[in-house]
Amino acid sequence: MSAAIRDRPVRAWPMLVGGRRVPAADGATFPSIDPFTGRAWATAPRATAADVDAAVAAARAAFESGDWARALPAQRARLLRRLGDLVEREAEDLALVQVLENGKLLREVRGQASALAAHCHYFAGAAEHLHGHVVPLSVPDMLNYTVREPVGVVAAITPWNSPLSLLFWKLCPALAAGNTVVVKPSEVTPVSTLALAHLFEEAGFPPGVVNVVTGDGAVGAALAAHPGVDRIAFTGSTAVGKAVAKTAAERLARVSLELGGKSPNIVFPDADIDNAVKGVLAGIFAAAGQTCLAGSRALVHADILEDFTARLVERTRRLRLGDPLDAGTEVGPLACRMQYDKVLHWIGVARGEGAQVLCGGARPDDPALAQGLFVLPTILGGVRNDMRIAREEVFGPVLCVIPFRDEAEAVAIANDTRFGLAAGLWTNDLRRAHRLVPRLRAGTVWVNTYRRTNHATPFGGMKESGLGRENGLEAIHEYTETKSVWIDHGPGIKDPFNPRA
Ligand code: NAD
Repeated sequence: MSAAIRDRPVRAWPMLVGGRRVPAADGATFPSIDPFTGRAWATAPRATAADVDAAVAAARAAFESGDWARALPAQRARLLRRLGDLVEREAEDLALVQVLENGKLLREVRGQASALAAHCHYFAGAAEHLHGHVVPLSVPDMLNYTVREPVGVVAAITPWNSPLSLLFWKLCPALAAGNTVVVKPSEVTPVSTLALAHLFEEAGFPPGVVNVVTGDGAVGAALAAHPGVDRIAFTGSTAVGKAVAKTAAERLARVSLELGGKSPNIVFPDADIDNAVKGVLAGIFAAAGQTCLAGSRALVHADILEDFTARLVERTRRLRLGDPLDAGTEVGPLACRMQYDKVLHWIGVARGEGAQVLCGGARPDDPALAQGLFVLPTILGGVRNDMRIAREEVFGPVLCVIPFRDEAEAVAIANDTRFGLAAGLWTNDLRRAHRLVPRLRAGTVWVNTYRRTNHATPFGGMKESGLGRENGLEAIHEYTETKSVWIDHGPGIKDPFNPRA
């Protein structure tokens, strides 16, 4: 049944501005290309500056009306719960749309689509627990308390690799706190966000509380620079994230950045080696390596380097590439031509630097995959941490294997990167795990597991991997401003110029 979706006629999706479904002001569109077939399967509007203005104006009007920003917490919670139920109802369709847009495996995206509902329900609860506190002042007759107010209009700018998860990581806390939102999804995956429009309406969100404009980086830049935007929540590359941060700094707009990574997955000889092999491979080859938290550097203790690498290579050669809609496929295509070219470029750079291609390193020669943007899962040996292939984010199915001799060297190599998103540690020595966790400069550390995230636990990067945290109760605070309120309940105000009066 799933593959039949490819036979549907190309559909033109509208944007969502102020509760209305609209084309771009000049009618321009661009195609969404299925990376497995290479064919356009839908189109989205290419927004103009006027469309961005209209979306921000709609979000501003919705915010200023107070209908959402000052709605009772229980009302906001009710709508978020409804949205969660609707997303659950439509999880299969939302999963299929994402597969057509970015080639991620249907079984992985199905899991992600169901998790969206959990996100809505968690932040519905958070909306009702968003409280300030009473400050214990050593001042007589004075009450001081804090309240958390919404920041205002939030611009949510998202990438293509997990378009809906990364949107909900922003949308749910932003809405729970009473903000209004303008979303700009990636030009590679516009439709999965546009496909949500009717759900916001059906859930009962007032018009203008959520708006969606589509287009490329220029649309994102116009949105980020818009004076009507109070806060920017950005997920994407470190280079663009820095540009967004500079734009935000011009007017001191609030900003959070979820950026790239070059995460180490560290394997000690005392680990459960079967589990470590699975964890290292899933860490890099799931989603064909197109995840910010990909464990793209396997740091392997010298004593087990040969055997461990051989096992990685043996299993990698057996990975089944294929149609991401098929249940038996283990690795799908890359999401877009630009990413495909980039990955092959970096493999070329690695060869030029003297890295040894232990498996993969090219596109597959299977004619059944000829139309798709496939790159064979690639393992590189002979890599030093100072090579460019070990320093730059590839965002594809390319694993560097780097040896180390002791804990100190493992930590030094792990931290010798401008990124700090995540790290994995494989060991059965409890003391070692506790010794190393605090020394790893990463926003997430996994021990004997990898690639786990959850709506309830904070996620974000240190160093050039980002600013701020998504998920967990910390996330909702990022969408608020703290107001401090003073109330004098004493008998009267003293004359400040004459204290005896
Ligand atoms: P990208 O930076 O090219 O684009 C991200 C979004 O920003 C897109 O919507 C794009 O249109 C928009 N954009 C482009 N130029 C812009 C500009 N000048 N101003 C404002 N917006 C602009 O990233 P991508 O290729 O879509 O995604 C891959 C990157 O995202 C990788 O680096 C990956 O590590 C990162 N990522 C990070 C996380 C995380 O949570 N840390 C999660 C997923 C992806």
